[in-house]
Amino acid sequence: MTAQDARITANVGLDDETLTAFRDGLRGELLEPGYEGYDDARALWNAMYDRRPALIVRPRGAADIMQAVRFAGEHGLEIAIRGGAHNVAGNGACDNGLMLDCSAMTGIRVEPEARIAHVEPGARLGDLDRETQAHGLATPLGFISGTGVAGLTLGGGFGYLSRKHGMTVDNLRAADVVTADGRFVRASADENPELFWALRGGGGNFGIVTRFELDLHPLGPQVMAGPVVHDFEDAPAVLREVDRVMREAPDEVSCLVVLRHAPPLPFLPESVHGRMILLLAMIHTGDTADGERALAPLRAIGNPIADKVCPRPYTAFQSMLDASAAFGARNYWKAHYLPPMSGSAVDTLCDRAGRMTSRESVVGMMTLGGAIARRRADSTPYSHRDASWVLNIQARWRAAPEDDTHIGWAREAFEAMTPHATGGVYVNFLGGDEGAERLRAAFGAGTFERLASVKADWDPGNRFHLNQNIPPAG
Ligand SMILES: Cc1cc2nc3c(=O)[nH]c(=O)nc-3n(C[C@H](O)[C@H](O)[C@H](O)COP(=O)(O)OP(=O)(O)OC[C@H]3O[C@@H](n4cnc5c(N)ncnc54)[C@H](O)[C@@H]3O)c2cc1C
Repeated sequence: MTAQDARITANVGLDDETLTAFRDGLRGELLEPGYEGYDDARALWNAMYDRRPALIVRPRGAADIMQAVRFAGEHGLEIAIRGGAHNVAGNGACDNGLMLDCSAMTGIRVEPEARIAHVEPGARLGDLDRETQAHGLATPLGFISGTGVAGLTLGGGFGYLSRKHGMTVDNLRAADVVTADGRFVRASADENPELFWALRGGGGNFGIVTRFELDLHPLGPQVMAGPVVHDFEDAPAVLREVDRVMREAPDEVSCLVVLRHAPPLPFLPESVHGRMILLLAMIHTGDTADGERALAPLRAIGNPIADKVCPRPYTAFQSMLDASAAFGARNYWKAHYLPPMSGSAVDTLCDRAGRMTSRESVVGMMTLGGAIARRRADSTPYSHRDASWVLNIQARWRAAPEDDTHIGWAREAFEAMTPHATGGVYVNFLGGDEGAERLRAAFGAGTFERLASVKADWDPGNRFHLNQNIPPAG
C-alpha cells in the first residue's frame, strides 16, 4: 500500500472489524486502496479524472447495492456509481467515498416473444446489441460499444435507431431501483410513476438502477450501412446537402457526421491518411432490399473518396468507430443542439473543425428527428426533441501539459457555434465544468423544477449527488 493509499483509508476512519463485517455480508468484492483490482475498478474512460475512492464495492446483485447504500449512509460516505465508466465528467468514481463499480453485473436476459430485454447496470452497449441481435432484435443505443447502458439510458440515449424507435428512454418499460435509504422499489408507468418519469433522462439523481427493462424491435441482423468519406475541402458543400437530404429522409435513415483526421484504414488511399476528412456513417434500419434506394440520396452527394456502404451485420456497424474512442485518453467535450443548419453554421463548423489541435479530436454530429420528435417534450425529462442535430465537439489527447491547448480549441469552437445553436444541451455530453445554468439548459421549461421535486421525494438528503446534480426542491 502506498502512503497515498494509506492516507485515503485512514481518512475514512473505519476500523477493521467494521470493514470485515461489511465485506462478509456482500456477495461481491470489497476493494480497498492497494488491493489487486482496485486501480482497474476506479479507472474511468476520461483520463482527466484520476479518483481514489476509500472503498470500492463490486456488487453481484441488488442486495449488495442495498447494503452498500445503507453502509455509506451510516458512515457518512459519498457514493459514486460506475456503469460503463464512459461519463465524460468523470462522475463514475469519487475521492475518499464509496464507489459502486457495477462491472460484474452484466447479465442480460432477452424475452424474444415479448420483445423485452432485462439488463443489469454493468452491461455495455456491445453486450446488449449482441444478446438482442441473436434474436434479430435491437433497441436504440449509442455507437461506441464500451459505453454503459446504465448512464446512457438515464440521460436519454440516442443512436442510429432513434429516428425509427425513439430515444433509449422511450423504450424503457420499467426499472428496479435502490433508493437513497437503501430500499428496493420498482418504477414503471404503474408503479412509482413520477420516479419512472424522472429516470427517463434525469440522470443518476434518483436512485441506483439495478435492472433496466427495455422494449426491443425487429432489426437485421444484416442492415444496409457503412461509411462514406469525403475530402475535407468539400465538407461545407457536402454538409449543406446532407442537412437538406436528412430533412426529407425516412425514419429508417440515420447519419452520423464526423469531422476528423483520417485513420490509416485500408479502404482509404494512403495519401489521405492523417489528413482531415468528412466521414458520413449512414444506415438504413429497414429491409436491406430497400436500403439501396433509401440511402441513394446521401450517397449521391459530392464526389466521395470512399463509399463502403453495403449489407453488413448491425453489430459490426455499431462497433465500427470503437477504435476512435478508446479508454484512457484525456478528453474535454462541449456540446450543442442545432436546428436545420444555415450556410453560415456549416461554414463556421467546418472552419472550427479544421483548426483542431489534436489528431485524436473529433467533431461529431448525429441526425435526430423522426420518432424522437413525435413525442411530447414533457413526456420524459429528455426534452430537446425538436432539435435536428446533436453536435459534440470532442477534444482528445494524451499528454497533460497540452491540456490548455486542446481545451481552448473545444471552447472556442463551441463559442463560435453558439449563435447557430438552440441553446439546449444533452445532459450526457456535459463535462465537469459546466455550471448550474448549463445543467438547466439540458432540460425543457418546467422540467428542471419537476425533477427537483421528484428528487425531494426520493433523495431529500441529496445522497446521490456525484452526477449532473439536481438538488432537491426546497
Ligand atoms: C465514447 C463515447 C461515446 C458516446 N456515444 C453516445 C451515443 O452515441 N449516444 C448517447 O446518447 N450518449 C453517448 N455517449 C454519452 C454517454 O451516454 C454518457 O457518457 C454516459 O454517462 C455513459 O454511461 P456509463 O454508464 O458508461 O458511464 P458511467 O461513468 O459509468 O456513469 C455515468 C453516470 O451515470 C450514473 N449511473 C451509472 N450507472 C447508474 C445506475 N445503475 N443507477 C443510477 N445511476 C447510474 C451515475 O450518475 C454515473 O456517474 C457517449 C460517451 C462516450 C464517452
